[in-house]
Amino acid sequence: MSDASRDEAVARASKGPSPRLRTLLDTIPAYVPGKSAASTGGPSWKLSSNENPYPPLPGVLEALAAAAGQMHRYPDIHCTELTGRLAEHLAVPASHIALGTGSSGLLQQLMQISVDPGDEVVYAWRSFESYPIVTRLFGGRAVEVPLTGDEAHDLDAMARAVTERTRLVFVCTPNNPTGRALRRDVLEPFLDDLPADVVIVLDEAYVEFNTDPCRADGLEVYRNRPNVVTLRTFSKAYGLAGLRIGYAVAHPRVADALLRTAVPFGVSTTAQSAAIASLDRHSELMERVDELVTERGRVREALLEQGWTPPDSEANFVWLRLGQQTTDFAEHCRAAGVAVRPYGHDGVRVTIGERHANDAVLTAASAFRREFLAG
Ligand code: PMP
Repeated sequence: MSDASRDEAVARASKGPSPRLRTLLDTIPAYVPGKSAASTGGPSWKLSSNENPYPPLPGVLEALAAAAGQMHRYPDIHCTELTGRLAEHLAVPASHIALGTGSSGLLQQLMQISVDPGDEVVYAWRSFESYPIVTRLFGGRAVEVPLTGDEAHDLDAMARAVTERTRLVFVCTPNNPTGRALRRDVLEPFLDDLPADVVIVLDEAYVEFNTDPCRADGLEVYRNRPNVVTLRTFSKAYGLAGLRIGYAVAHPRVADALLRTAVPFGVSTTAQSAAIASLDRHSELMERVDELVTERGRVREALLEQGWTPPDSEANFVWLRLGQQTTDFAEHCRAAGVAVRPYGHDGVRVTIGERHANDAVLTAASAFRREFLAG
């Protein structure tokens, strides 16, 4: 078949009846990935996806390259070695761990194991943008509870929003995109007040950046609560976003269900090897995390000095509530070579990157204030 007749066949077919897909798909917003920086001719930085700015730790690439030689084989479906290493590292039984294709994959599985069409899913808003997507995709009814005025979860209102139809509650701590984290003394009573048959997911994608000594720790609070699932990822602090690997820690009934709903062989051998190699280098990794935490403090202080009011962040990003000026601010940064992440008319999330990148965003923020917010 020639190229022309192939194109003609496609054009003819596209005019005919199309396959019937779920109408609900038209109502589901697409996941919006952080943009790359515009090419301005000068240096540019991507601070729009909460990625780790550092390349893989020494030795991780070598482990991954060695594993890549096995790519003609399916991976170990049970991720046996990594599960054992994680169990040791986290001090939890191996039967409590379910690995997945990023915590995004596990979020979908959590919907699959707990939500029937029409069931309610409660979460704070704004929070991680995947929650409304997966909720609708699996036929759930999203119950969004506004954040408090200081950008934190309103746990009292969330508890009131739970009804007999609620099957799942997402709690994102530290919260993406605002950075606010929950303390143990407020989270525990909330967990204990909810019905014991409702699955509660503590999404701790940014937990390694949380330096609050009073922080709620999912690994502690899940132990005596069989309905609590702690969700973590190798994408952020561990810098393995491109490999798609995350994990849930839960009591065996939930962990088993997660394993049964996983895409078979979804977690690649390369991802498993890189994760093991990263765990081997945990202290070096935490040194890098410490540097990012120090930078986070520096950036927040500088923004406060400029007159902004970023909330306290325990993650690798800061949040600026900009309302109607959200798009203008993001465009202004983009023109200065920095991609940040705008959210509708709510605000902008700025990932903490390498020092030069952070300086660039501070310069852009200061210029924006002078030009657009003076007086
Ligand atoms: N949870 C939160 C709160 C996130 O911000 C992200 C990534 N943006 C994820 C989960 C998913 O991360 P991944 O799928 O890369 O593990």
